[in-house]
Amino acid sequence: MGFRRLLGNDQLKQNLTNALHSGHISHFYLISGPTGSGRHTLARLLAAAILCQEQAKPCLRCSICRKVMANTHPDFITVNDPTHKAIPVDMIRDMRDDLFIRPNEAMHKIYMIDQELRVEGQNALLKVLEEPPKYGVFILITDNPENLLPTVRSRGTPLQLQPLPESVLMQALAEEFPTAAKEDLRAAAIRSCGFLGQAKNLLDGSAAVSPQTENFVKSFSQQDALLLVQTLVPMEKFKRDQVIPILQQWLSLLEGALACRAGMPGADPLSRTLSANRTSRDLMQAINCLQKAILYAQGNGSIATICGYLSWALR
Ligand SMILES: [Zn+2]
Repeated sequence: MGFRRLLGNDQLKQNLTNALHSGHISHFYLISGPTGSGRHTLARLLAAAILCQEQAKPCLRCSICRKVMANTHPDFITVNDPTHKAIPVDMIRDMRDDLFIRPNEAMHKIYMIDQELRVEGQNALLKVLEEPPKYGVFILITDNPENLLPTVRSRGTPLQLQPLPESVLMQALAEEFPTAAKEDLRAAAIRSCGFLGQAKNLLDGSAAVSPQTENFVKSFSQQDALLLVQTLVPMEKFKRDQVIPILQQWLSLLEGALACRAGMPGADPLSRTLSANRTSRDLMQAINCLQKAILYAQGNGSIATICGYLSWALR
């Protein structure tokens, strides 16, 4: 059965399967969970299950299922606008107009609303939720349903994605990254808080570190004062809002290294390098210096002075 493609979340999958088998389709599903928790996978599987004509829905083999999973089914429509942070209210109004055109080839017309909705947008959605045509289904994807108007939230069938059990997550990661060290897989599993998409991002380098951070880890681990200066001097010319995130990344790696020395699992590989090469006392001193530098940078201190200070304080 196709819902298996979504890992974990057994109760949710069972409830959905039972409901769909008894022919119960909601007009409004509210899928929630953090980024990387499988929200889009669930939305597509659900849409496929609603449209699929086979006995075990979604079969994921028929042309309907395949079109939904590839986002090419004319009655499965994604509503979002990548050029805005929230969906413009006009887009919701257009969706409302479109809803009253009957489905192209299926029994239902499904809209996946895949972006933040401001109050205006929610009110526009509410109008259509009050009396949708029989074939209309909305799937709203959200980080946090608490941010929705209670009148919107109360109309939805909530589908909240849960973190994966560690064994399930580890097995999925081992299959996807067969050459990665078990220690790195475990660290990514812990840091992702159980969400596969986040763990994969950590492992495939989407959460890549800057060259400055790489050099910092190398210079601080090997006590290479020259490399440290070579890293910090060019940063003197960076803009404030470029320098602060870099320093925050260094701080967070040092904090991770200290936690690692204290025996806590799940450290980033770079934190493990730092913790293997420096004492807890060194790490604490560096944390202290970076906290000061970040505060100074946030308080409009001169970036050149901050870089100069760190070249001396972290050497
Ligand atoms: Zn199918």
